[in-house]
Amino acid sequence: MRVRPAAQRALRQGHPWLFEQAVIQQPDTPGNPGDLAVIFDDQRRFLAIGLYDPTSLIRVRILQRGAPATINQTWFAAQLAAAAARRAALPGQGTTGYRLLHGENDGLPGLVIDRYDAVLVLKIYTLAWIPHLTTVLAALAEVIPAQAVVLRLSRDLQRQPVWLHGLADGMTLAGDLPDAAVRFHENGLCFEADVLRGQKTGFFFDQRENRARVATLAADRRTLNVFAYTGGFSLYAASGGAPEVLSLDLSAPALAAAVRNFELNRHLPAVAAATHTVLAADAFDALAALRERGQRFDLVIVDPPALAKQESEVNGALRAYRRLTHLALGVLEPAGTLVMASCSSRVSAADFYATVEPAAVEAGRPLQPFAHSGHAVDHPIGFAEGAYLKCLFATVR
Ligand code: SAH
Repeated sequence: MRVRPAAQRALRQGHPWLFEQAVIQQPDTPGNPGDLAVIFDDQRRFLAIGLYDPTSLIRVRILQRGAPATINQTWFAAQLAAAAARRAALPGQGTTGYRLLHGENDGLPGLVIDRYDAVLVLKIYTLAWIPHLTTVLAALAEVIPAQAVVLRLSRDLQRQPVWLHGLADGMTLAGDLPDAAVRFHENGLCFEADVLRGQKTGFFFDQRENRARVATLAADRRTLNVFAYTGGFSLYAASGGAPEVLSLDLSAPALAAAVRNFELNRHLPAVAAATHTVLAADAFDALAALRERGQRFDLVIVDPPALAKQESEVNGALRAYRRLTHLALGVLEPAGTLVMASCSSRVSAADFYATVEPAAVEAGRPLQPFAHSGHAVDHPIGFAEGAYLKCLFATVR
């Protein structure tokens, strides 16, 4: 393929995507998802090689740039081994559930692999991976042997059955998965995740370090965890000494899992001593209702789902962050702690903080931030779009 000069520059600088409109010349045959595309510069020198996908606006996802390489099992194994090496310290910290491979940020665009102890969940975001799955699985078996490898498909892919060649979301690709509820540890706490039906691949590993920080802030604090999912932040708060924890989420199955996750850690005195309650409701309505009823908390965590998935949704997302800030402050005791996170990649860290902090001033409860945090070691940032997570910790008068 030949591509526009701006795209040549971007690829040289390491950008992992080539968009459809940057293509100047390509073979007449349309090609299939997963074909290897070789991109040349204006002097007809090799620029990069990547996975071609005619069904996606991201026409090529770059695997290798600069020097040519043979894309085979050995090459995939080298990428996977490098990704595994970056996470080598985690198991020693009591963490057997983490992101093993973070897509473009670990050199394999559109492919995520999450490790749940002995079970690996491989999630693909482009059809281009399908013809390479057998090779990737063989490479994976070389690098980390697993009891089972489960396939998850992004929502976009599930809509394109013609190209799936019989593969389906939740299929076991290798080994044996006796139970969809898989147990693993995170910083010594035990969790269970449903790797077949759970959101993403079953658990939100990206918040691990922010959850650990919450544990250090929770002693003697009545805690409210908004958008609690399966109780990650809730359990950390309890383990850190919160006497009462309320988990609020729209999803009743997620909250049922949160209750089970507490049960799994009852052997810890702090968890056994904590009262955990769940509330299945819309966060916006429930926060207003809690405020009305005069319920107050010393620590409030707000970790909403991605509110802007495309550029046109950014303003709406910022309005929602402003509203959530008001609502959270409405149930926060004086001298309480507010934790606000955003995982919308389209909302920059600067815009997020510049929305939440003034919203608190508007509410008459200015924040005194003491930490602005982002990505954990298993979610490295390989390119601008890879930076999506931001989390604000603040004390509020
Ligand atoms: N904090 C969690 C991850 C949150 S994911 C963790 O650390 O694991 C976002 C959650 O928001 C999901 O569980 C989803 O069910 C929930 N959710 C989405 N919209 C909601 C709404 N309007 N009200 C309450 N919960 C909602």
